[in-house]
Amino acid sequence: MTARIRPDLDAIPAYVPGRTFPGAIKLASNETTQGPLPSVRDAIAEAVGGVNRYPDNRATALVESLAKKLGVAAENVAVGSGSVSLCQEVVQITCGPGDEVLFAWRSFEAYPIVTSVAGATPVLVPLTADHVHDLDAMLAAITDRTRLIFVCNPNNPTGTVVQRDKLEAFLDAVPSNILVVLDEAYFEYTRPDAGNHTDGVELARGRRNVIVLRTFSKAYGLAGLRVGYAVADPEVITALSKVRIAFAVSTVAQQAAVASLEASAELLARTDALIAERDRVRDALVAGGYDVGASQSNFVWLPLAERSGEFAAAAAEQGVLLRAYGNDGVRVTIGDPHENDAFLKFALQA
Ligand code: PMP
Repeated sequence: MTARIRPDLDAIPAYVPGRTFPGAIKLASNETTQGPLPSVRDAIAEAVGGVNRYPDNRATALVESLAKKLGVAAENVAVGSGSVSLCQEVVQITCGPGDEVLFAWRSFEAYPIVTSVAGATPVLVPLTADHVHDLDAMLAAITDRTRLIFVCNPNNPTGTVVQRDKLEAFLDAVPSNILVVLDEAYFEYTRPDAGNHTDGVELARGRRNVIVLRTFSKAYGLAGLRVGYAVADPEVITALSKVRIAFAVSTVAQQAAVASLEASAELLARTDALIAERDRVRDALVAGGYDVGASQSNFVWLPLAERSGEFAAAAAEQGVLLRAYGNDGVRVTIGDPHENDAFLKFALQA
């Protein structure tokens, strides 16, 4: 007889990561193509010598570096094994069976999964026709069972951002007993724009029910090391420390993240180059007749509706791996110029 497993798990899909094969041009997982900077490589090599010991469970040096960089207290910062772990942990600290978690759709695929795994109920609020969060509809969807709201900003997979004034008004209108997550996994690819630049850490100051999640997986290029962080009120940070798996962030990841923060000027110079490539790709697609909105991330969104699956499959046949989302669209990560050219060659003939 097999062991009894929770029957409700049958209905919950496992997270499906982007696939790859040797020689493929992988534009499917919003990764950085370049490896860590030399100083970060050195920190990784040095940390490897200490892996016989458990990591610092509180990640003291990393938490202090982050606090200093962000202008907050160490008590406002927690780290996690990638920000996806922090997504799971925020559900764990707020929800039980029957509680509701609100988020836009489409958005990050992990939100419905971590919600359902906790026995809570995902409440999906469609994006606007422009693929942006419909904050008014999200406010209207709040019930007395709502415990948590995810706002993915910029939104994965559409690359759109919510305007600062609209987000501020939204945060002011959400009841203060509901935790609001500002998932800023792609923050480093945003640029100030007509006063509407949204820095979640600024918005979280003085708002005790707001938590900001960021990651070293994207602009910092450390996806394989698994380290992300949260900025929130100390009470939220303390709760997170209770549900976090002990020693969740390895010594190597902690030291690489500290070194990355010290090299932030160089690492963020890479984002300028990425942004220029992103805009080049978008311009070429628009010139080729595609409907592609402005992105504030390291990817662009092609709302191809029912053509999405066949478009991604045809690209894969040419060795270019993209991510199709049902009958909504295709997300294309911006890679190196030659990779982007390979994608454009395909797209402009398709
Ligand atoms: N949030 C969003 C919006 C994401 O797109 C991702 C990665 N795809 C994550 C969180 C998680 O990233 P990580 O766990 O690598 O930090």
